[in-house]
Amino acid sequence: MTLTEKDSQYLWHPYTQHKTSQIPIAISKGEGALLWDENNKEYIDAIASWWVNPFGHSNKFIADAIYKQLTTLEHVLFGGFTHEPAIKVAEKLMEILPKNQQKIFFSDNGSTAVEVAIKVALQYFFNKGEKRTTIIAFENAFHGDTFAAMAASGISFYTQAFQGMFIDVVRIPVPVKGREQGSFDALENVIQNHNCAGFIFEPLVQGAAGMVMYEPEALAELIKICKKNNVLTIADEVMTGFGKTGKTFAMDYVDADPDMICLSKALTGGTIPMAITTFTQDIFDAFYDDDINKALFHGHTFTANPTGCAAALASIDLLQTEEMQVNINRINKSHLEFQKKIESNPKVITARTLGVIFAVEIKSDSEESYYGSMRTKLYNFFIDKGVILRPVGNIVYILPPYIMTDDQLQKVYATIEEAIEMV
Ligand SMILES: *Cc1c(COP(=O)(O)O)cnc(C)c1O
Repeated sequence: MTLTEKDSQYLWHPYTQHKTSQIPIAISKGEGALLWDENNKEYIDAIASWWVNPFGHSNKFIADAIYKQLTTLEHVLFGGFTHEPAIKVAEKLMEILPKNQQKIFFSDNGSTAVEVAIKVALQYFFNKGEKRTTIIAFENAFHGDTFAAMAASGISFYTQAFQGMFIDVVRIPVPVKGREQGSFDALENVIQNHNCAGFIFEPLVQGAAGMVMYEPEALAELIKICKKNNVLTIADEVMTGFGKTGKTFAMDYVDADPDMICLSKALTGGTIPMAITTFTQDIFDAFYDDDINKALFHGHTFTANPTGCAAALASIDLLQTEEMQVNINRINKSHLEFQKKIESNPKVITARTLGVIFAVEIKSDSEESYYGSMRTKLYNFFIDKGVILRPVGNIVYILPPYIMTDDQLQKVYATIEEAIEMV
């Protein structure tokens, strides 16, 4: 039996209707921006394996750091104990996060980083004896698949089976160019009419919605409205964090600081599952009390896993090298050139770039749903050509590992151009 045959006997894949979907491709090896399947077919990983892998597959520098940690202290419980790798990650993050972030809380995936932030926003007001139970989120947001994260997410086919079972979430439109005022007004209106505890957003780029982008000035205005009304702000940087937007964090573009930040995905360079939620001192202080009931009763078994911390430290070291900054700028410049070229294609509606993120919307005759026929046609075409891209409906985006070579990048562009002609 091949790996793929054994897979279909036992495994249940994410976001997959097994009856109608194609069988998965068994990947046996990865190096740099390349992956190889069990038949040795080569693929360019143009989406950094769901946005987690900026430094390339099987990165030796991170692997060495992990091995060293594994053979020194692989894990220890974080309740009542601490260790140097966790403290070093905290110190490192304090250097690079917005200055108002003072405390960090570990978990193990993006959804739980969000779950923690939302629970903290709700308990912050509970601890202060104030009734505030509504969370504000953007339309078409994606914040993860656990319950509070799912409630905050606005992409309906992820969540429709659970409607009516969620915490209170009110949605406002994304302040895309030309429609900022509507978003500001909606936020003011929601705050007047609900007891709002927090506002969660993907800063500058909504990833799962198809790399929908909006301007830092608009986000700064929304945060200012929240601050004026004592509504806590949560920047979900799970996708945007660690260089994707061209700066270390998307919030580095924004002239207003959030109260909390959620991190995961690229945090460990795609090696070990780990997540972090960061907080202001003011938030921490609302839980700091003689009363044990005011504590944050939340934790995960693998919290602050030392091996994960070692991987995070090595990843941040790599991100901070001159070489990686040069790579990020190189890819950005290259994307902007490709954008200019492709925008004039009559089959293109629009294209956009921020940092290493590029997206193009392709015209279609019929209404395309997220998993519509154009999406399938595009996806299959890319796989056939040995390029891993996962279109969102009619939107094709690239989010390459930063170490992707120019030749590989040009091949990705050429394949997208071919695909546009094909559909
Ligand atoms: C992927 C993602 C999440 C969820 O992270 P998981 O590790 O998949 O649970 C949350 N927020 C954003 C913005 C994401 O892109």
